Amino acid sequence: MKNLIRNTILTLSPYSTARDEYQGQIGVYLDANENPYDNGYNRYPDPYQKSLKSRISEIKGVAAENIFIGNGSDEPIDLLFRVFCEPGHDNVVAIDPTYGMYRVAAHINNIEYRTVRLNPDDFELDPIALLAATDAKTKMIFICSPNNPTGNAFKTNDVEYLIQNFNGIVVIDEAYIDFAECSSFSDRGFDNVVVLQTLSKAWGMAGLRLGLAFGSKLVIDTLTKIKYPYNINIVTQNLVLELLDQSPRPQIKLIISERQRVANALGSMKSIIKVYKSDANFLLVKVDDPRLIYNQLIQEGVIVRDRSTIPGCEGCLRITIGTVDENSKLINIFEKL
Ligand SMILES: *Cc1c(COP(=O)(O)O)cnc(C)c1O
Repeated sequence: MKNLIRNTILTLSPYSTARDEYQGQIGVYLDANENPYDNGYNRYPDPYQKSLKSRISEIKGVAAENIFIGNGSDEPIDLLFRVFCEPGHDNVVAIDPTYGMYRVAAHINNIEYRTVRLNPDDFELDPIALLAATDAKTKMIFICSPNNPTGNAFKTNDVEYLIQNFNGIVVIDEAYIDFAECSSFSDRGFDNVVVLQTLSKAWGMAGLRLGLAFGSKLVIDTLTKIKYPYNINIVTQNLVLELLDQSPRPQIKLIISERQRVANALGSMKSIIKVYKSDANFLLVKVDDPRLIYNQLIQEGVIVRDRSTIPGCEGCLRITIGTVDENSKLINIFEKL
């Protein structure tokens, strides 16, 4: 595993914060050039987010040493490129279509981004084709499951096959795992897997920006070594700790049942060609005239995501499951089309 990490990163001596050097609790802090007058925020936050990690560890059943906390999932995605991929030299492989951020992060880091199309009918992935797209310079394979924007979770066997047959890191983005029936890859003990999760979806904290990466101690330590020292501010750390006490279970259950209700209703409309199976909190629907329907929905004050220009998603809109009232409004508009 060490061989996969860029030498620059492996040999880097990271920035050492004042709080690295002294870790006691009470005392007179004259070590960080802070303003001494207490307003609740005058001290730097814990760079290692220990309280937060221990709470997330309880909730997710993953040891704290295997957890990285980032400023949204975007942060670990970018850091993973910087840990494993030598700019202008290495490459990554990803399914297509998928979440757009992997491609952007690859390009920012000057890393070749290779894609393998999902099956056009059911959006299943082809592990053999993904492996065939790799070469000696492929450091990561990106799998998003359940996948955005297609909505489906991939077969556990297919993902496992990839993990076991690839000599690199398999990044599994589980942003929507709480809406799916399959279980997480976070606790299966694969050394070459990094699982991404987020508090932005099921947990209802998109505005707070908190992304999680679960991985081997070596990978987590390396991400931690290269992150901005105080990447999660005090307000976020405290607020998230508080909000984690409110279980999202009831809302998740309702969203899942609404997903079924909306899918059933839309499935019978004549403007809709296909409602794809979803394991997430949105539906991908193929319609006869995506631009027209998108604009008509906008006129009625409902905004969906037009994915019809994305290869593999021709004719498709992506519709997030809203509240019961919002979903009913959406269905009513479609009935009038
Ligand atoms: C929404 C989403 C995320 C979450 O990103 P944050 O930066 O944590 O808000 C991550 N991955 C996928 C596939 C998503 O759709």
